[in-house]
Amino acid sequence: MSLLIDNVRLWDGTGSPARARMSVEVRDGRVFWVGPVADWQGNRASVRVIDGSARTLIPGLMDCHVHYSSPGGPDWIARFTDPLPEISIRAVELAETSLRSGITTARDVGAPHAINIKLARASKAGEIRAPTIHPAGTWIAHRGTYVPFARLFGDANELREAIREEIEAGVSLVKVALSGWNEGARPKDASDIPFDARLLSVAVQEAHRAGYKIACHANDRESCHIAARSGVDSIEHGMFLEKEDVEAMVTNKTFLVPTMSVWDAMLYYASAVDWPESRRTRAEGLREGSRKSVLMASQMGVQIALGTDAGGGAARHGRIAREAELMVDCGMSVQDVLLAATSRAAGLIGETERGSIQAGKIADLVLLDADPTENVAALRLVASVYQGGMRAV
Ligand SMILES: [Zn+2]
Repeated sequence: MSLLIDNVRLWDGTGSPARARMSVEVRDGRVFWVGPVADWQGNRASVRVIDGSARTLIPGLMDCHVHYSSPGGPDWIARFTDPLPEISIRAVELAETSLRSGITTARDVGAPHAINIKLARASKAGEIRAPTIHPAGTWIAHRGTYVPFARLFGDANELREAIREEIEAGVSLVKVALSGWNEGARPKDASDIPFDARLLSVAVQEAHRAGYKIACHANDRESCHIAARSGVDSIEHGMFLEKEDVEAMVTNKTFLVPTMSVWDAMLYYASAVDWPESRRTRAEGLREGSRKSVLMASQMGVQIALGTDAGGGAARHGRIAREAELMVDCGMSVQDVLLAATSRAAGLIGETERGSIQAGKIADLVLLDADPTENVAALRLVASVYQGGMRAV
């Protein structure tokens, strides 16, 4: 069946400005034709016509950093260890929440029990209402440094084995986490960050040799320093990047996925649920570092892809518009932010058939009640969402 989204304002995700009075024809799940209303040659009686007047059509949004196995909120880490049936049912609900906010593609960059792999398969099979999900399986981290429900290793051989096992389990990408030692876990004379440059290069090699991308959690100065020089495909969070780190990222073509919703949600909970002062201070530090890093990365030419870290931090699901607003607030142009949420995200994920509205691409589309290029808050005004040309929301 054909679909004609008629007389709509179009922002197509290619980098061109929004254009008024456009039409988009969808056939067999793909964009078939794009052009000015007056140029469409088909027969209106033989297509389903959607009136797009006073609305803006954009490509389906992409969130490069979510965790559907936790709902976010003030106790997000505890939620990862809820009973498995509860996590599983909730993950289905949260993926649908995400879809409703206009997200048609998501990277789930860490889940206990590889729930994200199962969720991705259920979505692909059409069994649940969810974005197209690219799962990273379970986080890989050095023993003693990260959440205990991650996949933990002690040396290079265990690290290689962990990556191979994740790939065999069916991930779309590999996710590693650099971090300082957990409190009291640091053995005498051990380095501060045991997942060091040497081990990270082992991980990068192992993932790339198998043809997989590798995303790296780095959220302190030392981790950012190591990750920026390692050749990972993306730095997740990267809230304490120095100028030299950003230069290395440009050279290595490493993306930044800023996840500013993390500190934004933390600052909200600091007052909403009376967190201790120390947590507020930490959130304020993250905000300051993050805003500086994102602006510098954007000005120096690092490719930025949007990620909310919904579920993996205090941020809840379905709030991608808030992340976009935070990116604009720190100095990025609205156009760059929208690209970060569509075609640049597609570049990071490796989605060659999605991310822009062009003939031949898969018709993942979002119809908004206002123009996000004028005010990015329009991303809150989702009228409908299409996945492969089918109305999903
Ligand atoms: Zn995360």
